[in-house]
Amino acid sequence: MLRENDPPAGPGAACPSFVEFVRGLAGGSSPEPSWDALRSLGPEELYGRIAGTLGLPAGRIAQLAAAVLRLDYAPLILPQRVEVGILPPAFSRSNRVVSMLEADGSRTFILSNPFNAELLTILNRYVVKGTSLRLCVTDPENIDALFQPLAGAGPLTRTSAEDAGQIVFLADRLLRIAAEEGASDLHIEPKESEAVVRLRVDGGLRRLAALPKELSRRLISRFKALAEMDTTEHRRPADGAVKLDIDGKPVVVRLATTCTPYGQSLTLRLLKPWPKARGLTDLGMTECQAERIVWLAGQRSGMILIAGQVGSGKTTTTYALLSQLDCVSNSVITVEDPIEYRIEGANQQQVNEAAGVTFESLLKSSVRQDPDVLFMGEVRDPQSAKMAVDFASTGHMTLCTLHTSSATSAILRLDRLGLSRATMADSISCIVGQRLIKKLCPHCRRLSPSSPQEWEALRRLGGEQPVEVAHPVGCPRCRGTGYLGREGVFEILHFSPETSAWVRSGVPGADIRRRLLGRGEFLMPRHGLEKVRALTCAPEDVPEIYAAQPAEGEERWAAETLSGGAAGNAAEPFRLDENTALPERESILVVDDDPEARTFLQRVLERSGYELAMAADAAQALDIASRNSFSLILSDVMMPGLDGFQFLEMARRRRIEAPILFLSAKTDAADENRGLELGAVDYIRKPFNKETLLRRVQNALRGR
Ligand SMILES: [Zn+2]
Repeated sequence: MLRENDPPAGPGAACPSFVEFVRGLAGGSSPEPSWDALRSLGPEELYGRIAGTLGLPAGRIAQLAAAVLRLDYAPLILPQRVEVGILPPAFSRSNRVVSMLEADGSRTFILSNPFNAELLTILNRYVVKGTSLRLCVTDPENIDALFQPLAGAGPLTRTSAEDAGQIVFLADRLLRIAAEEGASDLHIEPKESEAVVRLRVDGGLRRLAALPKELSRRLISRFKALAEMDTTEHRRPADGAVKLDIDGKPVVVRLATTCTPYGQSLTLRLLKPWPKARGLTDLGMTECQAERIVWLAGQRSGMILIAGQVGSGKTTTTYALLSQLDCVSNSVITVEDPIEYRIEGANQQQVNEAAGVTFESLLKSSVRQDPDVLFMGEVRDPQSAKMAVDFASTGHMTLCTLHTSSATSAILRLDRLGLSRATMADSISCIVGQRLIKKLCPHCRRLSPSSPQEWEALRRLGGEQPVEVAHPVGCPRCRGTGYLGREGVFEILHFSPETSAWVRSGVPGADIRRRLLGRGEFLMPRHGLEKVRALTCAPEDVPEIYAAQPAEGEERWAAETLSGGAAGNAAEPFRLDENTALPERESILVVDDDPEARTFLQRVLERSGYELAMAADAAQALDIASRNSFSLILSDVMMPGLDGFQFLEMARRRRIEAPILFLSAKTDAADENRGLELGAVDYIRKPFNKETLLRRVQNALRGR
């Protein structure tokens, strides 16, 4: 398998972690490892020394080793696919290799050290006649686990292929991989012919494995049984929670099932144990914000609302706040569904609808107990909104969460939940708005003086100007993404006498926001800027800095604030100040029927400074392009109605001169030739990455 005259290439080659890994293989000195040295590399070298030097987990080392040799990588091994009785068990175990029969009758060997030439020679003897040696690399632990007795017998000594131990093993292994990768969620989603397991890491989804559907069904049952959920219920969505021990650490796992046309799917959310030291500032708040909110929460009465989108960390913030309150001399009651973290000294109550313990009944009984502080979860309906304000205005501190995008948009939401402005002004102490932002990997971020464009955009947000800004790069520790973790961007809308008066007199939330921003209040844009200045976050990740298009409704403030527009101009899209000398931007029209593809293209191209217009089909594109001139048109080929080729012909007939570049999932050379013959400037085959896209767009623009 070692192809000596064939230098490693492929998708892994450009990634910095790959380069560092190859240097690690070479002992850190030469840029290229010698193949002789690699052949004598022992597993303890690979998974011990090299992994240690690079600070990478074994799974990542296995992935990189696979990339060097252009082999497949297996994140996990399904025990029932392992062939029993082919390799001698002792040999299998000591060399960390197992064999697997493929659907086509050939055999694949899964091993942890693919550099071991001696082992490969032996394995060649076990190859099915007429096929060649096929290898796949995995984390050594995956193979070790196959030999460990689990729930009775390990799979290689099992008597029945349907051993429940397999499922237990697989469930454990998936949770451990999820924990090791720092995933927040694990999804098991049945599709037409198989089930897909995906991880959500730092907000993005990554495919981990595909499982046979029957196996995934049993796996979902296993997880549901762990959480004591009804395993016979497959049609209705259900939720549950369980506290598990993963690698010696307690982790609360929240489960939610939904029904899809292909069967039941399951999402597991992994909630990290709550370390004692973690406070509001660890979540990303400034000292000043943290002090202010803790002081407000210590008052005798009032309501504190934590507002944010789904997944913005509202609950985490609430717990951080609760854990800073004195729960010994104050009585603190929480009504939760489910309880995610333990707060020492607090009386935490779990909703259990199945047993008749409803949210409403718990809330009523909590109110009767007359606590000093009540956390009542999310305000979802007029009843809970009314209960919260009633309680807050009778000498109790009430905490709730609310699903909105900012502190000021919470006012509109409460309007809709039927609270009067007077009630809000009387009962609310403050509204905390929050969202999460990606943190740059401190090991590889690139510092550079802020560009004139960044300088200008940052200047508009006010405050002190950063001399240097940081951008993502990518290294082994961040898996080449350039980011490590996320933290909160916060704003605290304190209901001061002045703000309360605005609320009472019916000033719209968006106007309140404008007034506050106008006088330089520390709202989310300023906090985002602070993180850019601290080099924790990249300017491109603070949406207000590059707000090119105003979002709907309340979010419009960002654009207005940035452009300095008057209140009456709310609908005007954001334009850079005309007096600012900036180079004229190239304009690109994107034509694609797939909304996801459009979003991707828009994001990538706008961040690179292009001005974009979007069309969902050829007819719309012809309409837009005949009224505006563009530097370039990017068009999909397969679209409903007119396809890309017909679009090109129609465009030329209508004297639309802009060069057209095709992006297509049709990878036939014939299609590519046809596109180019018709006069397309280039033809990019899907899938492509950001770099390829930008380079070829630049080339197309240069070639005009
Ligand atoms: Zn990094």
